[in-house]
Amino acid sequence: MTPSSPGAAKRAAPDLCEPCAGIQQHWRKAPGHAELVQGTHHREDRGNGQASFTRYRCDRCGAAWEYENNKANQHAGWALLAH
Ligand SMILES: [Zn+2]
Repeated sequence: MTPSSPGAAKRAAPDLCEPCAGIQQHWRKAPGHAELVQGTHHREDRGNGQASFTRYRCDRCGAAWEYENNKANQHAGWALLAH
């Protein structure tokens, strides 16, 4: 039997850098941070309007993010894709 391993309790945001961990996900107009590097961009036609998606990659921790801009959706915003 091993006692609880150190660090096991804080797996909620594995290895995200501090600014990435501080990004509020799925909230319209939540800010990103200065070390995100902009990548590809595309648009999708939703029934209730256009949504645009922009990929970002964090220069510090390598996390992949996508930002959705959609006026009709209060919960469109940052989503963590992979890390
Ligand atoms: Zn980061």
